[in-house]
Amino acid sequence: MLTNEILTFRKFEAGKVSVSLTQGNLTALIQGVADTFKTLTEQKNIAFNIAVDFNLENVWYDKGKLENILFNLLSNAIKYTPEKGKIYFTATKIFNSLNKPNVLINIQDNGIGISKSAQSKVFDRFYRDDSEQANGSYGTGIGLALTKQMVEVLNGKITLESEINKGSSFKVILPLEKDDFPTHDVKNKDSEEQISLQERVLLMSDLNVVDSEQVQPLNVKDDNSKKVLVVEDNTDLREFLAEALSVNYTVSVAENGEIGYGLACENDYDLIVSDIMMPKVNGLELCKMLKNNLQTSHIPVILLTAKNQEEDYIEGLQYGADDYISKPFNLNVLQAKIYSIIENREKLIQRFQKVEEDEEQSVVSNISTLDQEFMNKVNQVIEEFYVDSAFDIDAFSSKLYVSRSLLYKKLKALTDVSPNEYITIYRLKKSLTLLKSNKHQVSEVAFMVGFNDPKYFSRVFKKYYNCSPSSYLE
Ligand code: ATP
Ligand code: MG
Repeated sequence: MLTNEILTFRKFEAGKVSVSLTQGNLTALIQGVADTFKTLTEQKNIAFNIAVDFNLENVWYDKGKLENILFNLLSNAIKYTPEKGKIYFTATKIFNSLNKPNVLINIQDNGIGISKSAQSKVFDRFYRDDSEQANGSYGTGIGLALTKQMVEVLNGKITLESEINKGSSFKVILPLEKDDFPTHDVKNKDSEEQISLQERVLLMSDLNVVDSEQVQPLNVKDDNSKKVLVVEDNTDLREFLAEALSVNYTVSVAENGEIGYGLACENDYDLIVSDIMMPKVNGLELCKMLKNNLQTSHIPVILLTAKNQEEDYIEGLQYGADDYISKPFNLNVLQAKIYSIIENREKLIQRFQKVEEDEEQSVVSNISTLDQEFMNKVNQVIEEFYVDSAFDIDAFSSKLYVSRSLLYKKLKALTDVSPNEYITIYRLKKSLTLLKSNKHQVSEVAFMVGFNDPKYFSRVFKKYYNCSPSSYLE
């Protein structure tokens, strides 16, 4: 799903879509579309059989919609058919019960197939089959919803037959006579064509190449526990992104950087996606403001840049942006990036919580300078005071000159533990070194790392390491 398609999609939603017809050689058009896909099928070693009726030479059709329909169905067939599979693509002139000519397009594959229960849902927006077979594919779940809408706008019909592990067949029937279409304009030549089919296919093959490494299947926790803020001034794109990302995240939106910044200061977001070109406060300024405020500096930022404005991105990186994506972008790539940034943070946080001895107090990577300085100070303060059993969150926050709530918020964001837990973990790490040195009794060690009750120390130790301090020594 590309941004341009997104806009088409929004038009459909708003009922602003019009049919525009051309009279011409449909045989050639369909044959041309099929040919464009040959490289993709070859890449995947798929046998691609094409049979287009030559009797479609002087008929009526909506070129843009037809290309979209074919693109979506063919790209699905390729996507959901494993290497060395087969795809049949046929277009035949048929006559309906009123003896009117129609074209019947059949796109059939012997790929993974669609289960009976999923068949009723595949035409729903954002529906993706997350069964094992489909695992590893990327997608938004919009292609078929859009396809169905387009077929219906053209007074056509789309049907699906499929059997799991055997393959699928999508059949589309469209009218060929001018009077059988709904109200329409007539076009003499192509105008305002957005992005050529060729470009789209190229983008798809790019994705195929990076797919395996970069675009990981999205096994996002679907409890929508992560919060994402979308800052974008284009209403269509903003609403679309909000809708698409809501499948996996709790999404908030802002129409410019100023509003976005205000929201970010008041809420705990796990990630911000921001356009660069915006009125008032633009994306770069927003990024700079976020990364210079301790309240928000830990939030990862992905910037959306216009094509050929990659210098913006370099600038964004200087301001601490975590990644960027250039428009027109593929939504799947954006989703993969969001997923991997959030996932990486979680992994690092988990590593931090393993509480290994001597390990650097490693926190999230790609952390902003402000956060880095903050964490350095945190560790300096603890290093100085951990021996003191009276050292608590109040002492901690006042030594750092921040409020208790900000300290809590920052440590939670950067390490996912509370300040108290952070102190405990620090003390436990220290105790490991002392225990290993074999020079001290367990109770001595407890006091040395700021526990005034050895029994309590043992209990906490056991909770983190699953064994008592004395048995740890053996
Ligand atoms: P995109 O929006 O990028 O097209 P998508 O391909 O996942 O993403 P749809 O084209 O709407 O979304 O398809 C919806 C779902 O239907 C897919 O995720 C897939 O599970 C299933 N599906 C579609 N076509 C096929 C096919 N030819 N074989 C097997 N499953 C399919
Ligand atoms: Mg698709």
